[in-house]
Amino acid sequence: MSLKEQRRICSKHQLEITTIDLKQSTPKDDKYLCTKCLIEKIDIQNMALMDETQFMIKEMKFKQQTFELKEKQKRIEKQKQMECMIKGFKVQVEEIFDKILTNI
Ligand SMILES: [Zn+2]
Repeated sequence: MSLKEQRRICSKHQLEITTIDLKQSTPKDDKYLCTKCLIEKIDIQNMALMDETQFMIKEMKFKQQTFELKEKQKRIEKQKQMECMIKGFKVQVEEIFDKILTNI
């Protein structure tokens, strides 16, 4: 592989080099930039590649769905517990009425 071909792919991000930094003060190794390198130079905290953003959105949606599913399961579990409590209470009330009726 010639030096020219090696420079087409950024060694740090493994992405295609799209830009050359023409500033003379820039070290030779940092002159060839991929999109990601450019983002790092501009504002790494507030910029992301489209692919990365889409992945982040998917991940957020997945987390939200998982959270909603867990909440739903918790609600169902609570409803079941309430149902059990009410059934137990019903049995107790019926027993009391039976005792009252037998004593009349
Ligand atoms: Zn890069």
